[in-house]
Amino acid sequence: MINRLAWVFAVALTTVACATNPVTGSRELALVSESQEIALGQQSAAAAVAQLGLVDDPALQEYVQRLGKTLAAASERPDLPWAFGVVDDPTPNAFAAPGGFIFITRGMLALMRSEAELAGVLGHEIGHVTARHSVAMISRSQLAQLGLGIGAMISPTIASLGELAGTGLQLLFLRYSRDAELQADDLGYRYALGQGYNVAEMSNMFVSLQRVGEASERSTVPAWLSTHPYPEDRVRRIQARVAAEPLPTGLRSGVDEYMEHIDGLVYGENPRNGYFREQLFLHPDLGFQVNFPRGWQTRNMAQAVLAGSERQDALLQLTLADGNIHDAAAKFFSQQGIEATRVSEEHINGLPAVTGYFSAQTEQGLLAGVAAFVSLDQHTYALVGYTPAQVFSSYEPVLRAAVRSFNRLTDPQVLAAQPQRLEIIRSSERMSLTAFASRYPSTVDLNELALLNQLDDSGTPVPAGYPFKRVVGPPAP
Ligand SMILES: [Zn+2]
Repeated sequence: MINRLAWVFAVALTTVACATNPVTGSRELALVSESQEIALGQQSAAAAVAQLGLVDDPALQEYVQRLGKTLAAASERPDLPWAFGVVDDPTPNAFAAPGGFIFITRGMLALMRSEAELAGVLGHEIGHVTARHSVAMISRSQLAQLGLGIGAMISPTIASLGELAGTGLQLLFLRYSRDAELQADDLGYRYALGQGYNVAEMSNMFVSLQRVGEASERSTVPAWLSTHPYPEDRVRRIQARVAAEPLPTGLRSGVDEYMEHIDGLVYGENPRNGYFREQLFLHPDLGFQVNFPRGWQTRNMAQAVLAGSERQDALLQLTLADGNIHDAAAKFFSQQGIEATRVSEEHINGLPAVTGYFSAQTEQGLLAGVAAFVSLDQHTYALVGYTPAQVFSSYEPVLRAAVRSFNRLTDPQVLAAQPQRLEIIRSSERMSLTAFASRYPSTVDLNELALLNQLDDSGTPVPAGYPFKRVVGPPAP
């Protein structure tokens, strides 16, 4: 009897809950099947693209995609639907969604100097996928939650954005264990070396990220550092490994190819995508501005602008809506669970609009809010602010003022704002970074320039032909 039970138990385990780890070959408990893993990854990848947007540079995208796919094709899981993208985010970061969807930010690309470094970072992220690190961390409750697409504080009824902000993204910014990070480094090293890259350069990235962290006057914390701690440790490990098993000769760095692809890359915030000047949100490309409530936290995402009150009990979201203002308003106010009041046509700063109040019964209780649909230059904008019903009266004036601040942007300087860009210049002679910077002025200071060029001493001359990066273009007004 006992034997039989044990046997039944063993069968149940192998058929239901056990899978072989592709990297280690060991069998481990897996709650998530490969098809679930891919589905979850697709969801996360869609959320990343929706939130961050992709860099509009087909040649660069193709370059990163090609390199990534080459590395992944030689990995333990060549048959996953591997996809690689450069996201439009100035913060240095790289991340992998389960199932083989890998992203690197343009802020990370700006810090690198060679294809070998890029191969190391992509290889590291590929390693998280091949070793199923995120799969191992997905709990049953997360699985259930992701399936339902529950956003943080927002009801399913009014919530496209909550889903956008919540669903899937949690999978992208997992904190892996130290062992998982080191394993991803080892795998990345192996994948990059397998394609003939000079893996000794992998440590350059860690050094650069560490320097970004130390120069912490910059408002952006390097995200890759917060999810990828222990940089000194990792630099030491790579150096030790190179020392222990000498690298073959003739390994590639690919500095020229790399520099060619990042020449002209947008650097820092891109004002064309909209930007904040204090609480005033300005969008030169779409030609509008909105004044968000004072003291609220704001966030500019690719498909929405979000603002949350200090106590996090009120939210204001701005999105583009489909159809004209009447269609969009009708669609919004007629949603199941929403009760609309005082819906009327009017003008907001001379622009045709439909506005109204609403309440919505949700899993989080009764919400109350204000919504406006405004027409400007063939686009319909939806501004929706809401709070729990019991505090709505205290927020109503603030929300109404913000919604009614929507206006056409007319400041010619703002309308003409252009992003700063990287420019690659090869020195015609031996020169130091300081000499370079005085001959070819940048709009960033010498420290930041040193970081971008991976030079820690701006006074030491580098050989002629060295591809220097500089940053050109004035900051947004
Ligand atoms: Zn990692």
